[in-house]
Amino acid sequence: VTGVQTCALPIYECRAKGIFRKEKIKPLPGDNVEISPVQDEEKPAGNVDAILLRKNVLIRPAVANVDQALVIFSVHEPEPNFHLLNRFLITMEQQEIPVIICFNKTDLSTEQQQEQLRKDYENSGCIVVFQAAAKGEGVTQVEELLRGKTTIMAGPSGVGKSSTLNCISKDRQMETGEVSEKIKRGKHTTRHSELIYIGEDTYLMDTPGFSSLFLENIEKEDLKYYFPEFTPYENTCKFNGCCHIHEPGCEVKKALEEGKISKMRYDDYCMFYEELAQQKKW
Ligand code: GDP
Ligand code: ZN
Repeated sequence: VTGVQTCALPIYECRAKGIFRKEKIKPLPGDNVEISPVQDEEKPAGNVDAILLRKNVLIRPAVANVDQALVIFSVHEPEPNFHLLNRFLITMEQQEIPVIICFNKTDLSTEQQQEQLRKDYENSGCIVVFQAAAKGEGVTQVEELLRGKTTIMAGPSGVGKSSTLNCISKDRQMETGEVSEKIKRGKHTTRHSELIYIGEDTYLMDTPGFSSLFLENIEKEDLKYYFPEFTPYENTCKFNGCCHIHEPGCEVKKALEEGKISKMRYDDYCMFYEELAQQKKW
């Protein structure tokens, strides 16, 4: 049984017919579908007739039509695990999903720490925002970035994902209190992860926390393409196909020395490169 949101609301509880099973496709959270209503005394119900063309499909979590990812880390308590964050950014780059990095709990950090974080990620291709969800500070930035989009939310436990969601959905309830009742009812019917309705055309999916992100389907030679801060220097290094590690005349390493590229990000690049080189040997 799948909860299907219709333009006119409410949520229709739908079954996907056998043809999907035969074709080995099943509706995913985030799918746009065509349904035909069926008679049901208790609730709006229907059948899923067709799954509309998907913009994209993520494997983990299994979700369709994702516009972007919101990854939340706290500046402290717990300390950010940058290796994990950088791995996550690579997997999102691979799937061409834009990322918003949200550093939460700014009340526990100094201006300098925030400045450093901003600098580390300013050329990473991500949007970086800061907030203190527990205090309701800076949450409107995130709300605005989510508007009109389908966003997957990720982050280790304890960083403030629920707190962020509460801030966002509190506003939603104030606006559309009646709707949220119906959303809630739809909620219990879904077996797997689901999209939370935030507002018009705006959905958020809380994804299970990640602990280890294995780099897959990347040749070590291609890893550099997943670090957008290297892009301006591609093709300017002395050697063709420079991996920006040991080669002389490397413009990336020069930029690193000049402080134009984050050392923390570059060090992880080298670490991941080595990891991929080891993987290949098995
Ligand atoms: P989740 O596991 O990612 O969903 O994290 P929670 O939202 O449950 O928050 C974990 C803990 O961090 C809770 O005790 C929150 O009260 C606390 N917390 C969340 N946001 C903030 C914040 O902005 N500042 C501070 N100091 N604590 C926060
Ligand atoms: Zn180079």
